[in-house]
Amino acid sequence: MIQAQTLLFTWRVITDMVGKRKQQLSNHNKFKFCNSKFKIQALHSAQTHLSSEVAAEKSQSSTDFAIGELVWPSPSDEIPFWKKDFPSWGVNPEVPVDIKKDSDPMHIIHITAEMAPIAKVGGLGDVVTGLARACLSRGHTVDIMLPFYEFSGISVIFIEPSNQFFKGQNLYGGSYNELEAYLFFSRASLEWMQVTGAQPDIIHVHEWQTGALPLLYWDMYHYLSLKKPRLVLTIHNMEHYGECTKEQLSKSGLDGFIYATIEKAVDDRTIGHNPERLSLLKGGIVYSNAVVTVSPTYLKETLCTGWLASTLIRNRDKYFGILNGIDTAMWNPATDIFLPAKFNAQNPEGKKLCKYYVQRGLGLASEGILDGNHVLDMTHKVPLVVCITRLVPQKGLHLISHAIKRVEELGAQMVILGKTSDGRVEREFEGLAKLHNQGPSIRILLMFSEELSHMLYAAADIVLVPSMYEPCGLAQMIGMRYGAVPVVRKTGGLADTVFDMDDQSNHEMANGFVFEGIDEGSLGSALNRALAHYRQKPDEWNGIVQKVMELDNSWNNTAGKYIERFHMEQCSCYGMKHKTKKKEERLGSTQ
Ligand code: ADP
Repeated sequence: MIQAQTLLFTWRVITDMVGKRKQQLSNHNKFKFCNSKFKIQALHSAQTHLSSEVAAEKSQSSTDFAIGELVWPSPSDEIPFWKKDFPSWGVNPEVPVDIKKDSDPMHIIHITAEMAPIAKVGGLGDVVTGLARACLSRGHTVDIMLPFYEFSGISVIFIEPSNQFFKGQNLYGGSYNELEAYLFFSRASLEWMQVTGAQPDIIHVHEWQTGALPLLYWDMYHYLSLKKPRLVLTIHNMEHYGECTKEQLSKSGLDGFIYATIEKAVDDRTIGHNPERLSLLKGGIVYSNAVVTVSPTYLKETLCTGWLASTLIRNRDKYFGILNGIDTAMWNPATDIFLPAKFNAQNPEGKKLCKYYVQRGLGLASEGILDGNHVLDMTHKVPLVVCITRLVPQKGLHLISHAIKRVEELGAQMVILGKTSDGRVEREFEGLAKLHNQGPSIRILLMFSEELSHMLYAAADIVLVPSMYEPCGLAQMIGMRYGAVPVVRKTGGLADTVFDMDDQSNHEMANGFVFEGIDEGSLGSALNRALAHYRQKPDEWNGIVQKVMELDNSWNNTAGKYIERFHMEQCSCYGMKHKTKKKEERLGSTQ
């Protein structure tokens, strides 16, 4: 009860702060910096619009690939090459001039725990930014609401609690109670709309962190002033479901006990246990108007397996699979500020230089020979495999460690850029790093680095994604955009985006190497095939590289499906209102 008061007190403070915050934001108009590298542009109102006005910034010409004076890096550099000063990274470096504007613009507010590049742990951050910018360029108004994570120090953020929530060095796993912090964030976001009078067409929530928001909306704020918005929930990963006690949910101001039913938010696995628990993700599914997951294959998989399957089957008519895209302005090898040389499908020369640069910087052997600003790739014998990932079981940890061994045996090279918060996994990979990092062919780097990830995708011949399951997966799409041929396990979004080179029945779509089993042998034979292809058929390989770089996995392609869904929601809302009005009229006339 004391805690409940604390939470209510906290959001009341936020409410009071809205006026001050407006003032603060207008004082700090124009540019805000997350740190010296990431630039968030033009906060021109109290709301953090990603404005189309901003998108008018001139991009670098994509044909200007001149390489300036390159300082070649080395592993003994005091400052590693991925930590040097880069120019500010604008969120809107490309002018989306050729995008057709939608005829019926909407106002969409995302409420999310991540947004790239300022608050990113994995794909969620990329997806929110990419989808938001794609909708923006189609003429819609988009706002994004984020918790004010203490470490980010930037102001593209609305919700700054007056207590310890969101304080700490990392985005997740701080010393505060994460569940309560996101309950607070969900309620405070709605409170902000209530106080400012915002009535977006769509409130778009993401993952368990904002799963309680649809409950709060329909059972609290809809009775106050928030009438117009429809709720769309995107589930990026069903592994995390926001386990919650009834008492904890009650701290948001709702009565948690009301939601402890199978039809509402009870976690089915805890039925009969004492205490039974709730799942915020399940509640979000039940209470949202539409639920989207991030690939058609993952949609099918989640209807067949996992404890949420029965809830999803019950809600099948509002459950949709929309494949993620990548933001092709943020991920563009022709303009990428982190690359020592730019390139694209028509001008792939710079890619060799990126590989050579990374090899030198990490102290890997190189078969290339430098000729002025060109790298002569003499033998085409040593492909570079990269794996850029959160090091969690989902990503196929045993296959990643097996790949290190296999790649070394096969005389290729591999760089792993991986981050884990699990001590046991950290120790295992530290052990591998100790074993391999002094040699000529393997580097295991246990950290998160946006800058290095860009350079590695650009340097790579092969991008490896051996996931046990993968809702969508962005690494394979980004890799392809940067000319790295994917080797992936056939699951979720990987199955929707990568098609095997040796599948004769699907030659047109073929763009990588696919394996099905979760055993080392399955991975090994896919790697064998990829490496043999690289070495024995270099011309054909260069053809695949060009093909994958030309594929369109952009949001421009798939944002339209979200917009369509948003419009359907609005129409069904008007339909419902119309029906209710008619019913009221009928009732009125009979009274
Ligand atoms: P997930 O969302 O499960 O982490 P995705 O493939 O959908 O997986 O998205 C991963 C995103 O996070 C990609 O942009 C990838 O480049 C990035 N990423 C993952 N690990 C790291 C890391 N250690 N350093 C930098 N970027 C990373």
